Amino acid sequence: MKRFCPKCGKDIDDSNSINNFCIDCYLKDHELVKIPDLDITYCVKCNKIRYGKIWYNNFENVKEAILKNVKILDLKQTKIDLIFDLNFESNKYKAIFNIKSLLGNKIKEIIKEKEINLKKDTCLTCSRISGNYYTTILQLRFNNKKFMEIVEEKILKEIETIIDNINEKTNKISATIHVVREEKQKTGTDLYLDNLKISYNIVKHLMKHKIAKEYKTSKTLVGVSKDGQRVYRTTFCIHFKDLNEN
Ligand SMILES: [Zn+2]
Ligand SMILES: [Zn+2]
Repeated sequence: MKRFCPKCGKDIDDSNSINNFCIDCYLKDHELVKIPDLDITYCVKCNKIRYGKIWYNNFENVKEAILKNVKILDLKQTKIDLIFDLNFESNKYKAIFNIKSLLGNKIKEIIKEKEINLKKDTCLTCSRISGNYYTTILQLRFNNKKFMEIVEEKILKEIETIIDNINEKTNKISATIHVVREEKQKTGTDLYLDNLKISYNIVKHLMKHKIAKEYKTSKTLVGVSKDGQRVYRTTFCIHFKDLNEN
């Protein structure tokens, strides 16, 4: 017996119908996929983006998190792809979801577009760097110039690698560390850093080097916080020695 879609009159059979409606009519009346609101903050300085509470390095990295929030209501064997259509000149940002799913007994493609509410801002890291915010100074000091020329670059490189590894592992800004400023001194280098705890871990790590002689910690009172707590800045000064000296 011939069957018809009660809404549009199209011929239907098992392959092109759901619940006795043609697929197109059924899709119009039923929300099968629920796309979340897309509120995204974009750092104009480093291009990182925040979705929810987390900062991501780029739009590619945020896809998974967005897709996790897509609700599939009444579909089977669904596969979703997401592409972004971003136009920074006209300030128009869209997310295009390509949903492939088993409808009737065929794989059908459903395209859904959602506007992205994109807010341009500066992330905490960038505002700290531009505001020259730091909590800790790490001083590297060398007893003689020749020795300094041989090892200082290596030690700076090592610190850079440690910092990169730490920052790559986390999306939490409070668990990251940055060199806000680097100042060359006659007998070494001063690094201005924005995380005391990690700075201390770096100091402990550097002290494992044979050429590390000792380190000293000092604190400077820099002010009082809003809730009346004294705010200190910590300086770690590491002395390195030529292995020939004692
Ligand atoms: Zn129909
Ligand atoms: Zn930034």
